Amino acid sequence: MMLLCVAFLFTSCAEDRQQGAERVGSFPLQEVRLLDGPFKHARDLDVKVLLQYDTDRMLAPFRREAGLPKKAEVFPNWAGMDGHVSGHYLSALAMAYAATGDEECRRRAEYMLSELAECQEANGDGYVGGIPGGKTVWDKVRAGDGAAVSEMWVPWYNLHKMYAGLRDAWLYLGDDRARGMFLDFCDWGLGVIAALDDEQMELMLDTEFGGMNEIYADAYAMTGDTGYLDAARRFSHRKLFDSMARRIDNLDDMHANTQVPKAVGYQRVAELSGDSDYATAAEFFWETVTRNRTLSFGGNSRREHFPSAAECREYVEERQGPETCNTYNMLKLTEGLFRMHPDSRYADYYERAMFNHILSAQHPGHGGFVYFSSARPRHYRNYSAPNEAMWCCVGSGMEDHVKYGKFIYSHSGRDLYVNLFVASELDWEERGLRLVQETDFPASESSRLTLTLDRPERFALRLRYPSWVEAGELSVRVNGREWPVDAAPCSYFEIERRWKSGDTVEILLPMHFSVEAMPNVPDYISVLYGPVVLAARMGTEDLEGLVADDGRWGHIASGRLLPLDGAPVIAGTPDGALAKLQEAAAPVDGKPLHFICEGLFVPEEYRTLELEPFAGIHDCRYSVYFRCDGDAE
Ligand SMILES: [Zn+2]
Repeated sequence: MMLLCVAFLFTSCAEDRQQGAERVGSFPLQEVRLLDGPFKHARDLDVKVLLQYDTDRMLAPFRREAGLPKKAEVFPNWAGMDGHVSGHYLSALAMAYAATGDEECRRRAEYMLSELAECQEANGDGYVGGIPGGKTVWDKVRAGDGAAVSEMWVPWYNLHKMYAGLRDAWLYLGDDRARGMFLDFCDWGLGVIAALDDEQMELMLDTEFGGMNEIYADAYAMTGDTGYLDAARRFSHRKLFDSMARRIDNLDDMHANTQVPKAVGYQRVAELSGDSDYATAAEFFWETVTRNRTLSFGGNSRREHFPSAAECREYVEERQGPETCNTYNMLKLTEGLFRMHPDSRYADYYERAMFNHILSAQHPGHGGFVYFSSARPRHYRNYSAPNEAMWCCVGSGMEDHVKYGKFIYSHSGRDLYVNLFVASELDWEERGLRLVQETDFPASESSRLTLTLDRPERFALRLRYPSWVEAGELSVRVNGREWPVDAAPCSYFEIERRWKSGDTVEILLPMHFSVEAMPNVPDYISVLYGPVVLAARMGTEDLEGLVADDGRWGHIASGRLLPLDGAPVIAGTPDGALAKLQEAAAPVDGKPLHFICEGLFVPEEYRTLELEPFAGIHDCRYSVYFRCDGDAE
């Protein structure tokens, strides 16, 4: 059942409508198992944390709005957004089941569906929402007043999460009841917007609405009903779409996570309809965000908004750095764009964001989720606790760590892409092909693939040549013999041959230091080793609110800002920093990816500062960007 769903939602429509273009399919989460390593650790911890949440409390807002008797108390945190985390929770449970086979996750997801079905039934019109008093706003919108949505806390955004939850319950659990509930809910939404003219629609879309265009595009993919595709287009928001389709960046000071899901929807409309304006809008959005607005670890925005070029220096000052939801959504967009064009740039970004920002946004001990990752030198991040914090980044965080299997592999016809170097096992059931990837990457510089096939078969294995491996340095051995690599960094290369069981492919990926300037702030640089962002621990002074309580602003690491002039500084110009780093860096014995860079940093107290993966620094202040000072040499 699951296989059919995924094939239909993410491959077939694209195949039907994009003839001629190379099309790439995703593998269902069930077919990719993670093996031991940091991502499996994070995934298993996420499952454990998911099971600590109180499901009846998750459901309480929906019962209240449907007029059903109370079974549990609603969560008080972010109460105006009641129900939004519940949608993410349903998605996460469904994905966790797909990724691990955990029966308790499945049981909980099915319990949620039964309860939500009761709510939908009681509402009587297809609605399944938890927004406090939400029906009053929907009545106004139905009567033609689009701007009425601004009277409540982002109501479409909130509903979008439950739409996605129902879709994912169908997609990952194969539950047909969820499909019916999803489509009934979609039809309710069509009724709400039916009376809005284009002007009222645009006024309504000035208020954050999540990925409602993506939802309607998916409903179209599921049913072939063009009414849903029309609705996806109506939810485009011309203010962003018209600029993006003309390749004009109008993102300055826009709320970042309001925009990214719109681009996810543009991509879906393009993928399903072949509309080139939608394709341009999605691609240009991705391009300008990743090139001009993204920090080294893959995140964007400060105080939740995109800074203008001149305002980028605020990244250095701001305690509210990139928000995790933005990167969660950027990865969705990246997956979708890769399906349309399997370009290695997409995989490079995916790797950067997954290995750095996303992995770092979960506490490796208690599993709490991070909202803001400040780039301010010597600041820190704080974490959610189960059943306390109900932030957006808790909801998206629940999903982040159960879906690491989504992009490791892709397929195109008979050919297989290896996008990421993550210890894992692919079971391509339809083809009778299994692939085991054994690797400690990035702690080591190699990966070994072993294939098992029902019968020998000719096809191409497409391996990624990452941008961070230098030209001519990547080497491959097939069954122990050197295979010529005729490819440049940031591309894929093919090994096309007749494969048989027991064939092995060893890939050597020499890693190097690199430095990247903060966008539009050339004197602040971040240090990388391969795709891994390195940072430095900066003490544990005043970690106020390290695990957040249920206060409205608990998601902000509110401890004292330490003065910028006490932070470590690289003694040299930005242009000369890489050479100095290469000269100074000495690996620390027994600690992969840790380096002591004697003499690189001033003042004297930082003489033997240790750099280590940003993703592993928790419960601690840190510096991930360093100012370069030529006068300090
Ligand atoms: Zn968020």
